[in-house]
Amino acid sequence: MADQYGIKAALERLGIKAENLGTSTGNQWVDTGKEYISSYSPADGALIAKVQLTDQEAYERVIVQAQEAFKKWREIPAPQRGEIVRQIGNALREVKADLGKLVSYEMGKSYQEGLGEVQEMIDICDFAVGLSRQLYGLTMHSERPSHRMYEQWHPLGIVGIISAFNFPVAVWSWNSMIAMVCGDVCVWKPSEKAPLSGVACQHIIAKVLSDNSLPEGISALIVGDYKVGEYLSKDHRVPLVSATGSTRMGKLVAQAVGQRLGRSLLELGGNNAIIVTENADMDIAIRGALFGAVGTAGQRCTTTRRLIVQEGVYDEVKNRLVAAYGKLVIGNPLDEKNHVGPLIDQDAVKMYLIAIEKVKSEGGKELVRGGVLQGEGYESGCYVKPCIIEAENHFEMVQQETFAPILYLLKYKTLDQAIEMQNAVPQGLSSAIMTLNMREAEAFLSAAGSDCGIANVNIGTSGAEIGGAFGGEKETGGGRESGSDAWKAYMRRQTNTINYSTALPLAQGIKFDI
Ligand code: NAD
Repeated sequence: MADQYGIKAALERLGIKAENLGTSTGNQWVDTGKEYISSYSPADGALIAKVQLTDQEAYERVIVQAQEAFKKWREIPAPQRGEIVRQIGNALREVKADLGKLVSYEMGKSYQEGLGEVQEMIDICDFAVGLSRQLYGLTMHSERPSHRMYEQWHPLGIVGIISAFNFPVAVWSWNSMIAMVCGDVCVWKPSEKAPLSGVACQHIIAKVLSDNSLPEGISALIVGDYKVGEYLSKDHRVPLVSATGSTRMGKLVAQAVGQRLGRSLLELGGNNAIIVTENADMDIAIRGALFGAVGTAGQRCTTTRRLIVQEGVYDEVKNRLVAAYGKLVIGNPLDEKNHVGPLIDQDAVKMYLIAIEKVKSEGGKELVRGGVLQGEGYESGCYVKPCIIEAENHFEMVQQETFAPILYLLKYKTLDQAIEMQNAVPQGLSSAIMTLNMREAEAFLSAAGSDCGIANVNIGTSGAEIGGAFGGEKETGGGRESGSDAWKAYMRRQTNTINYSTALPLAQGIKFDI
């Protein structure tokens, strides 16, 4: 492995070896002795390391341990659980550079974005620490005399976390840090495309748990593909499965969890648009669209996939964007001079090429040509050119999420038309309008405006802060894993009514006297 970026030392400090165990009950690792999955870097194509798969037997051990741990963890007062999460946040601060590097190398996002992802984990920890003193319930006035009525929130038990490759560490923290202060225990199945990031996080959390003499089972790791994900979705001992990934996966998980009337929390695909009106600040609009479309090589759930532009400014936007795309530097994500890194693997490259061909066959016109890069620095075969295609909103490919840097340019006349186009896709994650006109902005944010979970003004579709509830509607799944009052998804609500009178009056004035 060429090591001009200090990967070897970072891996060593994170406890990653050439071959790693992949099942952890908390502080202990379980040797399943069988198959491994290999993690290759899309940056240079090198094998980074292998991780042992979790089998059914090891999974059983994890679940039994988690059940035991839950009995103890739920007894620890929430602010004390928050103290543990505070320590996890501090441990993450210490490894920020190394973990950011691993994320960048294993997943292919830029080192800056890798660092940003770890910073997001740290921010979530801080947020969860505050939450640990704010898991408020309501009190209400009883209709019966000398009665008291209130709601309280209790932990659910085991939270199963299934995560996607593109945010290999942050999504785990969105779920687990909130779930932990709520009193739940967590079993995490990271993406099979970025398992080392999962192993590294497990080392970090295991140390904090063991330093505090906490029991095994509070935070466990299992590794594998969809089959291991199915262990969680079909397991009645897992009351909540939080799954982040494609809509296809979300539908399968929702069915399996729904079959046993468990709860699922789904964060699925997006098909995000920016509307650029004739009243936009063009510098902001172009910069927002550019980062939104090519950042993380188009592999964010919030990536800008459609740019819906008013006809009066269409040519200006088109020309400026084409010029900006011409300045993009594509290459190794660890080299800070590069703007765009690789796609995750060659399957993703295939999907990108198919999408371009298909949209062209539907009538799309390539304004900035796509293609796969070859030659020195591109040996992994995963580097592609971000492209822009003039298209129509109803095209089959425009209606779908292709997880690659393809931007569809669409034209509109009136704002009503633009909002209709923005909403006329199956997904509902993120949306934005670029305008300095207050009426346009408010129309976009109104009930008749964007139907997405996220709607921004003069900001692109990607790069959300952790404080707001994050998630989307329609085929994006409706879940909110983190931010705002998302903690309620990780708890069960209990309504308590206490009678301190000497009588037993019934609600609704019902008489039942003997
Ligand atoms: P994916 O759906 O292929 O895989 C996601 C995870 O689901 C993996 O861990 C995988 O092993 C698991 N999985 C797949 N099939 C399963 C099944 N039948 N049962 C249980 N688990 C199963 O997604 P990906 O390619 O890793 O990630 C990209 C997708 O994730 C995109 O669609 C993107 O928009 C979405 N995503 C959404 C959000 C969000 O917050 N809305 C965030 C990140 C990624």
